[in-house]
Amino acid sequence: MAKIIDGKKISSDIKDEVKSEVEALNKKGIRVSLAVVLVGDDPASAVYVRNKKKACEYCGIRSISHELPGDTSEETLIKLVDELNADPEVDGILVQLPLPGHIDEKKVTDRILPEKDVDGFHPVNVGRLSMGDPGFVSCTPQGIIELLKRSDISIAGKECVVIGRSNIVGKPLAMLLLRENGTVTVCHSRTSDLKEVSKRADILCAAIGKTEFVTSEYVKEGACVIDVGINRGEDGKLKGDVAYDDVLPHVSAITPVPGGVGPMTIACLMKNCLIAAKRKAGE
Ligand code: NAD
Repeated sequence: MAKIIDGKKISSDIKDEVKSEVEALNKKGIRVSLAVVLVGDDPASAVYVRNKKKACEYCGIRSISHELPGDTSEETLIKLVDELNADPEVDGILVQLPLPGHIDEKKVTDRILPEKDVDGFHPVNVGRLSMGDPGFVSCTPQGIIELLKRSDISIAGKECVVIGRSNIVGKPLAMLLLRENGTVTVCHSRTSDLKEVSKRADILCAAIGKTEFVTSEYVKEGACVIDVGINRGEDGKLKGDVAYDDVLPHVSAITPVPGGVGPMTIACLMKNCLIAAKRKAGE
C-alpha cells in the first residue's frame, strides 16, 4: 500500500512549531513581522495573499499589508521596497507575483534585502543555496524536503529526478536534493527520453504545470512521487502534474493534489519569517 503523504497535517505541524517559537520570542520582547505587498487585483494573487495573512495571524506573526492599485509605477513600488528594507519593524518582505506587465519583477525582487527576502528569490540567497551556505530558500522546494524528511523518506544516495527547471521550484529543489546527498537529474521541455530518465528515479518530482502529465509509464515500481503541479481543470477542480489514480498502484509514496505540496509553501514562508526575526535579533 502506498503511503499518501499528508501535506495538510505536516504543514499544520510546522505552523504549530513556528507559533510556539514566536510565542517564546514574544516573551523576550521580540516580535516577528512580515510585510505583504500586493499590486493590482488578480483574483488568484488576492487568495494567496489572504491565505498568507491568515497563516501569519495563526502563528502570531504581524502582517503589514500594502495593497497598491494595478497602475502603480515601478518607481513607486521600488520606493516602497526601499522603505520596508529600512524599516526595523519589518523582518520579512513578500511581494506577491505576478506583478502587472509594466513592472520588471526581477528588478523588484532583486531590490529586497537578502536578509528580508523570505521568498528566497534574491540572487544572493540563490547563490548561498548553491554554495551550501545559510540563507533563505524558496518556500515550495523547502516544503518538499520537509515532506520527505517528516515522512521518513531518505534522500541520501537516492536517484532523484526533478521535471521542471524554474527558478522558484525546479532549480532550487534540485539544489536542495543535492544538499541532502541525493543523486540529482533535472529534466525539462527539451529532455529527450523523459520517460526513460524519469523511470530511473527513486524520488520523482514533477513541477511542470501540465495536468496529469506524469503517468505510470514515467514511474519506477516503488518510487516516491512528489507532485508540485497546481492546475485548475475545466470543472474548476485542482489537478496535479501527476495522473494520481494511474500512478498510485506503482508507488511506495505519493503526494496528493490538493493536500500535498500546496499547503507546505505557506508553512515554510512562516518558518522563513521566524528565521529572519531570529537572525535579526541575534538569536
Ligand atoms: P514554470 O512554467 O516556470 O516551469 C515549468 C517547467 O516545466 C519548465 O522548466 C519546463 O522546461 C518544464 N516543462 C514544460 N513542459 C515540459 C515537458 N513537456 N516535459 C518536460 N518538462 C517540461 O512552472 P513552475 O512555476 O515551476 O510551476 C510548476 C507547477 O508547479 C505549476 O503547476 C505551478 O502551479 C505549480 N506550483 C506549485 C506551488 C505550490 O505551492 N505547490 C508553487 C509553485 C508552483
